[in-house]
Amino acid sequence: MNITIIGTGYVGLVTGACLADLGNNVICADNDIRKISRLNKLIMPIYEPGLDDIVRRNVKEKRLSFSVDIKAAVKKSTIIFIAVGTPSLENGEADLTGVENVAKVIARNINGYKLIIEKSTVPVETGFWVEHTVKVNLAKGKQGKLKFDVASNPEFLREGQAINDFMNPDRIVLGVESQRARELLLELYKPLKANIIVTDIKSAEIIKHASNSFLATKISFINAIAQICERVGADVVKVADGMGLDKRIGRNFLDAGIGYGGSCFPKDLDAFITIAKKSGYDFELLRAVREVNEQQKSGIVKKIKDALWILKDKRIAVLGLSFKPNTDDLRNSPSMDIIRQLQSEGAQVRAFDPHAMKKAKEILPSLRLCADAYEAAKDADCLLIATEWNEFKDLDFARLKKLMRQPLLADGRNIYEPKLIKKSGFRYIGAGRVSVS
Ligand code: NAD
Repeated sequence: MNITIIGTGYVGLVTGACLADLGNNVICADNDIRKISRLNKLIMPIYEPGLDDIVRRNVKEKRLSFSVDIKAAVKKSTIIFIAVGTPSLENGEADLTGVENVAKVIARNINGYKLIIEKSTVPVETGFWVEHTVKVNLAKGKQGKLKFDVASNPEFLREGQAINDFMNPDRIVLGVESQRARELLLELYKPLKANIIVTDIKSAEIIKHASNSFLATKISFINAIAQICERVGADVVKVADGMGLDKRIGRNFLDAGIGYGGSCFPKDLDAFITIAKKSGYDFELLRAVREVNEQQKSGIVKKIKDALWILKDKRIAVLGLSFKPNTDDLRNSPSMDIIRQLQSEGAQVRAFDPHAMKKAKEILPSLRLCADAYEAAKDADCLLIATEWNEFKDLDFARLKKLMRQPLLADGRNIYEPKLIKKSGFRYIGAGRVSVS
């Protein structure tokens, strides 16, 4: 099939590369000239395991190309995915101007039947507005003559394992309102042999927001339990293990720590709360989820401060900058928020991340970056693990103790066993575990 993906970011690039790998002809289009010219030189705009290989292979085999000429790309394809960003506005609403702009460009360049698919995460009823926008922007005389369908096909991939998630999804959700759209999408995804849920467009849009909100709720729930564990002297890791073995609950997303972040959960929660309110429903539950998440970030700063007395001029080594391991994505990263809070208290922060340092430097130019965990720890008063990269799971604490001014570990992701850390001569701060000194 001939496919255009408009928006070549984490989702658009992965979707385009994977659909090309399944044998389709794909154009990944974007209005970011620098990004497209670099992609044409096979320079990846993001760190995502396996992406480089799949892009190279499909470009070489001439199934995948990159372009800033969105008009021409629309004309060449029957299937058009919209995968532009949908960031939060000040009031929490999703900013859908990118989606609207793309819908207008599509309308003005329709030259035959098109299936227009929302891949971006959008609030319910966006499908209706995309259809409306295309209709009113069709050239005069073409209205009613050119056929098109709108569909919703939300994306559930996780950064860090995006290729595998796209190729082996738990489910594919198709929101369609016509037989033609249904058949085209079923044909497109046939090679993946996945569970497919076919529904109306509004339900598909809600499935995405509800799924992300539910996962964020699980994280905030265990973080709230962690607060109780800390106060009464229980261990939230054991509590999560005990809960998670219940198949109705499951262990995933029950890791207490410094909270969720990333480009999706915070903005999708904001958007879902806002669209719920517009529909007349106050989503108090999700407002509480958001609040608990904020408390987790300020909570670790307070615990470090309690352990060090005064933060001004204390040296804090932060391990991990990306919002989760295996990505360089810093959007809404809890680590970056915590660094800002520490710096505002006068602490000197030194940081290390295996892949996100280049992007971190652009956002926080004053941040001192180090070559590895041990360089960051030199003369530090506290070592904070903010992202659970694998390479932080087996640190040499004897070496760290010699390097640091004070042996204090703030384990923001509960990676280590507090008692073992104490045996290494460190004081330990975790989330939902008794601090040991
Ligand atoms: P991104 O910021 O990485 O990429 C968006 C791309 O769209 C950018 O390259 C930008 O230049 C381009 N763009 C913006 N406006 C454009 C326009 N008018 N014309 C052409 N290109 C335009 O964003 P992302 O992380 O890929 O997310 C895209 C959407 O997918 C969002 O709605 C997001 O919520 C959703 N989503 C993201 C993930 C994820 O893990 N990142 C997972 C599932 C869903």
